Amino acid sequence: MEDSGREVIVMTLVRPENPQQARMVRLLRDDGPRSRVELGDTLGLSRSTLTTELDRLVTRGLVETAGLAASRGGRRSSLLRLAAGVRFAGVVVAADRITVAVTDGELNVLAETGEPADVRGGPEPVIGRAVDLLDKLRAELGVAEFTGVGVALPGPVDGDGTSIAPAALPGWQRFPVRDAFATELGCPALVDNDANVLALGEQHAGIGRTFDDFLYLKLGTAIGCGLVLGGTLYRGATSSAGDIAHLPIGEDGPTCVCGEVGCLEAYSGDAGLVRAALAAARSGRSSALSARLTTAGTLTVPDVAAAATAGDPAAQELVRDAARRLGRVLVGLVSFFNPGIVVIGGAPDGLGHILLSEIRGVVYRRSAPQATGTMPVVLSDLAERAGLVGTARLASEHVFTSG
Ligand SMILES: [Zn+2]
Repeated sequence: MEDSGREVIVMTLVRPENPQQARMVRLLRDDGPRSRVELGDTLGLSRSTLTTELDRLVTRGLVETAGLAASRGGRRSSLLRLAAGVRFAGVVVAADRITVAVTDGELNVLAETGEPADVRGGPEPVIGRAVDLLDKLRAELGVAEFTGVGVALPGPVDGDGTSIAPAALPGWQRFPVRDAFATELGCPALVDNDANVLALGEQHAGIGRTFDDFLYLKLGTAIGCGLVLGGTLYRGATSSAGDIAHLPIGEDGPTCVCGEVGCLEAYSGDAGLVRAALAAARSGRSSALSARLTTAGTLTVPDVAAAATAGDPAAQELVRDAARRLGRVLVGLVSFFNPGIVVIGGAPDGLGHILLSEIRGVVYRRSAPQATGTMPVVLSDLAERAGLVGTARLASEHVFTSG
């Protein structure tokens, strides 16, 4: 039946019809192939309901049989899994690069590719390149069509998948990114900011898997936060929950890209680190950074990381200072949301452990023991994969809802 149904699968691929079917496909997405018995036990469904709904999912091209489960003593039960026709596409847009991937229904990355891109050139060329790269992967993998596409942008996105006032994305203001991808790829498209997408990736494939409530802190060029509450990404009333980059933390602080002064990002984002490094170099407080500035004419985050890891005290201190400010913001967030874990991603290479240790120090010292007594603060171990898995998860959350 699976063989003869392949063409039909592509043509009839649709969303689950009811909440029970949606729970089944989400379980198969999150836990992989399961026997009928396991599915019935986990979902608490009667045998007849289970059979009826599974048959419908098979007919709709979302689920297929995958051989026999290991024997539990009696007759061997057949395994079910998400169908081979379920293929998600993911696009991660960063300030200087686009990365795309294709995943299966369980959100395993089947293929990925990327290339440098200048997002300041506006949305059309970037979206055009992303679609070209996805078409290439689609042809290589023999995928007929995508089940859905998820897109991560390095800036705010509203509930309609429109890019809003992004400092990192000049020219993208009010651009309908979601509609552009949906039209180009002919499938449902979902767009969210990178911190939310990274939190979704962490929820699917990282340490977030084991926590219903967690907070993902994204460092780097832009600082952001993704919040998973009760197993669901929390976006807030106008899709801007977790947008902590411009929290005012210093009255007379450095000028931020947003035009204000003293924003968290202006202190603790990549530009803040470089600004502090230039000050340390010019004042002579850091001999390593002074020497580097003389040779290169400017400083970068990797220069800061190199000086700090080589033991330069001023470089280490400026990194710790950035981390302390992040830590103080986290104290507020942790007190407010009481997450089970804080996962930190996007730390510059070589600086993760210095940042983590200082952030932990502030969070544990300044938070109520009730809130943080058993709460780990860890670095993400997913690296770039979190974004790609997260975009696929974003698309699947939409498609795997009864509609
Ligand atoms: Zn700002």
